[in-house]
Amino acid sequence: MKNREVIIVGGGASGLVAAISAAREGANVTIIEQKDQLGKKILSTGNGRCNLTNEYMDISCFRGDDTSIVQEVLNRFGYSETVNFFEELGVVLKERQGYIYPISDQATTILEVLCMEIERLPVEVLLSQTVNKIVHDKEKFSVHTTEKIICGDAVILATGGKAASVLGSDGSGYTLAKVFGHHLSPVVPALVQLKGKGNFYKQISGARTQARVTLYVNDEYVAEDIGELQLTNYGISGIPVFQISRYAAKALYKNKSVSVEVDFMPTMSDNEFRNFLQVRLDKHGYKQAEDFLLGMFHKKLIGLFLKAAAINNNSIIQDVPLGKLDKLVTVCKHFKIEILGTNDFEQAQVCAGGIYTTEINPQTMESVYEDGLYLTGELLDVDGICGGYNLQWAWATGYIAGKHAAKGN
Ligand SMILES: Cc1cc2nc3c(=O)[nH]c(=O)nc-3n(C[C@H](O)[C@H](O)[C@H](O)COP(=O)(O)OP(=O)(O)OC[C@H]3O[C@@H](n4cnc5c(N)ncnc54)[C@H](O)[C@@H]3O)c2cc1C
Repeated sequence: MKNREVIIVGGGASGLVAAISAAREGANVTIIEQKDQLGKKILSTGNGRCNLTNEYMDISCFRGDDTSIVQEVLNRFGYSETVNFFEELGVVLKERQGYIYPISDQATTILEVLCMEIERLPVEVLLSQTVNKIVHDKEKFSVHTTEKIICGDAVILATGGKAASVLGSDGSGYTLAKVFGHHLSPVVPALVQLKGKGNFYKQISGARTQARVTLYVNDEYVAEDIGELQLTNYGISGIPVFQISRYAAKALYKNKSVSVEVDFMPTMSDNEFRNFLQVRLDKHGYKQAEDFLLGMFHKKLIGLFLKAAAINNNSIIQDVPLGKLDKLVTVCKHFKIEILGTNDFEQAQVCAGGIYTTEINPQTMESVYEDGLYLTGELLDVDGICGGYNLQWAWATGYIAGKHAAKGN
């Protein structure tokens, strides 16, 4: 029987793994990539170190309108399969707090082993060509690029979403998928910084501190995370902000009111913190207010807290009325920020939203609308939290799609 021709649109994380898996099943595979190089985004992942998966693999680490597909995908290609896949390609892995990286601490390692395997199999690679049209007649798919038309038995759309378009993914995959009847959950930036209302950001910009960040939409609790908060000259950043950002972005998209409460003393309850201040007051009561807080908080934050609690920086702290100290506790533990927006797609690590997962066969990643069309990775309405989950999703969906596209089922 003649080998099937599999065309993969997009040579990013999911496209590369799809190519390897399809070629290993005996298909003749072509990758079409619009950048002049494969896997550009992989090189930027994990601050250049590529956090490729996570020991803790659970459906709760993935978000989307309907994430039931995630379990089916992970059952077929989960954490162990990802680890085995890369170890078989020769990568020695290391773990840090559950996060998995190549031991080299270089994302280039991951991209290079993928490219070596693609060369070995071999897979044909067309660079610097954008796919702008795909037609399916009874016989074949015709994939139109900016240079030529290529025909195949199956097409895998591995175009990514539209986060960080400078690295290749510009949202064109959504248009290609829609032609076959697919629909989109609104696409918004995720794993992204949040812009806050207020004129104090310049003064605290650059400060980093442990904090709990809690998100409210229309004053109702939605999500929280704890970790290193980074203050910027427009708002808040850092992993805890990234983790809740997709909910903020989705709510802002629907014109809902979004706010964040920052707990700058997350290791203590309100009462514990109040008692702590009381004990500290006994020893350091002679100090001016700003010196009293020195040693507890980042210096840039002290002025902000005192101003919000209406305490003069130079007041001797033991002379400050108790009511104002209570206010200080509230300010430090429940600092409210009205969220005006997110940074845009260019600064986002991923997109939330995308092609509805209910339009995909979870066993194969094939479109429910078009036989022979497969969709993978960030193009779909699944976004992971920080920690290697987005790449896990890309590798897993790519692997499954490649295997089934090659077999024609
Ligand atoms: C700065 C940054 C850091 C990140 N760090 C991590 C991390 O440490 N761990 C983690 O799990 N995730 C991380 N992510 C997210 C992760 O990189 C993505 O979720 C993942 O790469 C998505 O894979 P994909 O194959 O779906 O899409 P992509 O990797 O975006 O690849 C899509 C490819 O398709 C090509 N393409 C698009 N449209 C066309 C077209 N019409 N014709 C031809 N080619 C096309 C693009 O050029 C691109 O190369 C990070 C993302 C960013 C931006």
